[in-house]
Amino acid sequence: MEIENKFHEKACWDLAQRTHTASLFYVFLWVLIAISTPVVRDLPIIAAIITLVFVLGMLLRFHLTSRFHRLFHPNPARWLRQYSLAVYSMTLTWGVFAAAINWYYPLLWPAYLTGFITAGIAAGGAINQSTHLHIQRSLIVTMLMPSALVCIALASFESRILALVYLLDMFFLVRLGATLHREYWEALVNTELLETRAQLLDAARLRAETADRAKSTFLAHMSHELRTPLNAILGFSQLFEHDETLTTEHHHGIGEIKSAGKHLLELVNDVLDLAQIESGHMQLVSEDVNLNGIISESLSLVEPLAVQRGIEVRMNHTANQLPLVRGNTTRLRQVLVNLLSNAIKYNREQGRVEVSCGAPAEGWVRVRIADTGIGIAEEHQPKIFRAFSRLGNPERKIEGTGIGLVITKQLIELMRGRIGFTSTPGQGSEFWIELPLTSNNPDA
Ligand code: ADP
Repeated sequence: MEIENKFHEKACWDLAQRTHTASLFYVFLWVLIAISTPVVRDLPIIAAIITLVFVLGMLLRFHLTSRFHRLFHPNPARWLRQYSLAVYSMTLTWGVFAAAINWYYPLLWPAYLTGFITAGIAAGGAINQSTHLHIQRSLIVTMLMPSALVCIALASFESRILALVYLLDMFFLVRLGATLHREYWEALVNTELLETRAQLLDAARLRAETADRAKSTFLAHMSHELRTPLNAILGFSQLFEHDETLTTEHHHGIGEIKSAGKHLLELVNDVLDLAQIESGHMQLVSEDVNLNGIISESLSLVEPLAVQRGIEVRMNHTANQLPLVRGNTTRLRQVLVNLLSNAIKYNREQGRVEVSCGAPAEGWVRVRIADTGIGIAEEHQPKIFRAFSRLGNPERKIEGTGIGLVITKQLIELMRGRIGFTSTPGQGSEFWIELPLTSNNPDA
């Protein structure tokens, strides 16, 4: 009901806006007929009535339009009744006047002039009053029908042709008016729908922004709340490790606490990283990264793990051979460490890991990390970059969180790089990353 009232008000407002100056045309065209034909002299009473009706109608229309909001809201039905009265009185008076001219001056200049103007006003009305079908139709019929009837009554061949023209004009305008009316209301409904949709979208965006802010605050708190106690657990277990008063059993228990704590800390860090990336809050500062240095650093970081597993890690290039790349040092180290530790973790006994570099295309460098490990089954390969896909590792009891590769991929993409892999089950895998070179290389 509310929406109907809104549409009704909008249509009435449009009607008032479109047609209030049209009443000026009636007066202007009437003056034109009065000065170019003998109507005033021959039909003074009719001329006086027309002048009076037009002036009053025009004043009423101006009044109803200029005070629209004040007059419409208390009683919309009364506003429309008064507006219709102003329009009908003018159109009916004009219609009767045009018919009288046809009667008094059959097939003469005043009749043609008036007929021409009448058809024009009716066409204008069909367009202007398309908001309200009943007003529009009554306007067309009251303007044209009296002249058509008079022309039929005149009974000459020419006047009947003229009657036919009036009737055809009326028929055409009624049809055109119906189309315009339908189009007007369709546009009104569509605009309303668009406005509603825009409001809904706005509300949804606001909700999403609020939720996003809440999530960021939550993550910041979580990060602190989770890491602080975990670090305390790890710190104390390290202290107890060196306590010689404890039994072997105790030491074994402390070892378990330390390893579980480390795993939990890794998981927390990874989940927080992923959450930060996915919420778009991770911003990487782009800088020139020394690939030589960062590969060496990453290799030293994974060395203890390699030694522990008996894996040989080789770097297939000599130091200072590699160019500078564009990326973020800390995050690139994180990427390399993750790929290297995977290559060690998922390797076979006495296996090998080889790091090599190449140029896949001009302006790019590719770092390859190949292992001689268990490889990845073909059916698992499409899922490799999905979160928490441990791909059959739980049975192997290899420590991991299942989100390292997701983070790696996202980080590489944030650095505008690329990542990929090839793998043969039972033989090994090769993971590669590609990064853009900087323009600061000596030979660039
Ligand atoms: P995590 O190692 O913590 O489980 P990742 O996201 O780094 O998590 O790896 C996801 C899964 O991909 C691993 O669980 C493992 O099954 C598989 N994977 C990753 N790297 C290798 C590799 N070099 N060789 C064999 N499988 C691998």
